[in-house]
Amino acid sequence: MNGKKSQKVVVLATGGTIAGTAANGSDHTGYTAAQLGVQHLLDAIPTLNDALQGDVLVCEQVVQLDSKDMDHATWQTLAQRCAYWLSQPDVGGIVITHGTDTLEETAWFLQMVLGPTKPVVLTCAMRPATALMPDGPQNLWDAIAVARDVMVHGVMAVCAGRIHSARDVQKVHTYRLDAFSSGDAGPRGWVEQGRVRWADPGSWPLKHANAHQVLERPVAQWPWVAVLHNHANPDARQVHALMAAGVQGIVLAGTGNGTVHHSLLAALTQAQDQGVAVRLTTRCAEGQIVGAVSELPTAPRGLNAFKARVSLMLDLMG
Ligand code: ASP
Repeated sequence: MNGKKSQKVVVLATGGTIAGTAANGSDHTGYTAAQLGVQHLLDAIPTLNDALQGDVLVCEQVVQLDSKDMDHATWQTLAQRCAYWLSQPDVGGIVITHGTDTLEETAWFLQMVLGPTKPVVLTCAMRPATALMPDGPQNLWDAIAVARDVMVHGVMAVCAGRIHSARDVQKVHTYRLDAFSSGDAGPRGWVEQGRVRWADPGSWPLKHANAHQVLERPVAQWPWVAVLHNHANPDARQVHALMAAGVQGIVLAGTGNGTVHHSLLAALTQAQDQGVAVRLTTRCAEGQIVGAVSELPTAPRGLNAFKARVSLMLDLMG
């Protein structure tokens, strides 16, 4: 739960590939957009209730078109329906299903016309609903998560796990699932396992609570924190050697989403049991560990191993 009381999330459907069908499941281009109704799109998400977390879904088929055929009359109707729903006190946010071709124009139009203080989240698909692996259900699920997030206001677009602002979003690819970009501005955030991670997470402490120790304590007495990496065939003896030499903390840059070779994990768990502070991060340059993936504690705020070493050293000065 994100702390909000129960409210309505409204899904307004306008068509697009997300509601498209093809005769053949492997056909991602020879399909007809705007064929399936909004209830059909929602029925394709068996875990919808998990995304709603007690909120109530209301849906409405506003139009049914391929967004290459978008026009001003449809924009006016869509803006009117958004204005109506946004004015209802029990409505927390709106999700709009839309074709990808003119999504960026509709997003900007709605931002300029509505200037909403509640979230209005456009989403879409690059593959028709009949594809072997359609992307629409996940995008819709993600868009609902964003529409429920307390930090969102204004018009956003959600596609392939990335959240874009109406101002920056642009379709940049003809075929791939991640077809949108925010250019130099970058995405506003990401949706991971139904949770929103903002690129700018808002305020967090910019100064460590033990900072004063650094100014006073001789550097020879600063805690010793080592950095290790997971990789093929790691040698657990390096953990034992560090322990024997008196290491106080170990940061492990795990593989992928914080995975650790079983031999290294056993050694690090043993180190932890014997009082060594262990923190887990990832050796991947992008993304951060998602979910509770290990019994080892995760380094804070998605810090890389080298910054996590600094933070752990300061933690240990307490
Ligand atoms: N032509 C489609 C549309 O914009 C393309 C899509 O949705 O991906 O409606």
